[in-house]
Amino acid sequence: APARPRKPDWLRVKLPVGPEYARVRKLVDENKLHTICESGNCPNMGECWGAGTATFMILGNICTRSCSFCAVATGRPNEYDTDEPRRVAEAILTMGVKHAVITSVNRDELKDRGASIWHETVVRIKQLSPTTTIETLIPDVKANWEALDVMISGGQEVISHNVETVGSLYRLVRPQAKYDRSLEQIRRTKAAGHRTKSGIMLGLGEKKEEMYQAMDDLVANGLDILTLGQYLQPTKRHLEVAEFIHPDLFAHYREEGLRRGLKYVESGPLVRSSYHAERHVNVPI
Ligand code: SF4
Ligand code: SF4
Repeated sequence: APARPRKPDWLRVKLPVGPEYARVRKLVDENKLHTICESGNCPNMGECWGAGTATFMILGNICTRSCSFCAVATGRPNEYDTDEPRRVAEAILTMGVKHAVITSVNRDELKDRGASIWHETVVRIKQLSPTTTIETLIPDVKANWEALDVMISGGQEVISHNVETVGSLYRLVRPQAKYDRSLEQIRRTKAAGHRTKSGIMLGLGEKKEEMYQAMDDLVANGLDILTLGQYLQPTKRHLEVAEFIHPDLFAHYREEGLRRGLKYVESGPLVRSSYHAERHVNVPI
């Protein structure tokens, strides 16, 4: 086997410490909530939680899918908790969150893909915290467009759906997803009048030309905001990093994305789709 690349210095992260981090962690635990920050072993927990924000994951913490990069457990989901929207909304109120990011596992076994819980979560947050802005990072609805309509109509400000990688790597990276279907989901979200956002992980073996193509495809399908970050292997059982992308190349992709018609590009080794998410609410579209 070829030698595995070593983790470069620019990926060293700060440890999650400090009183604000501890406060957020306690609230998340007490309310029996799940966050993608923890499930995904995100390297920015110190920064984001220290600032009093977190990304909540709804619809349980077991996913019907098995994306090869993802640390969330795969299996038969055991949770359908109709009380979850209330608990999430109350936690957000208690925490005084100004901008909330909500995401979920995939629930392919549910007829409505979890759309009614999604909708109620957004509505309840807005009821309890009217000035809190919301980004919903929604899953692939598998072409259930009625479910998509429900999922995106609660009054959220930003609607994201991550394509995650270039088209040629889908079978390796997102075996149960389809590149064109994710693009269509973004196109339909835009057609409904929303601020659209997506994310791509770099370092999975994508070529430059493929990155340009992906950005063109996203622009053609109505994407406004794109996040680009380095893929990090969550455990040894997950897909290996093919390459550590230099910060200069991240900067280059940002310029290219803007040149190709994206409204905003967040690009850097430690960028995750919810990183600096509060800035994306005000991107002119
Ligand atoms: Fe959580 Fe996103 Fe921040 Fe990571 S970047 S800690 S997932 S809010
Ligand atoms: Fe992880 Fe989402 Fe893939 Fe499920 S669908 S395995 S939560 S990335």
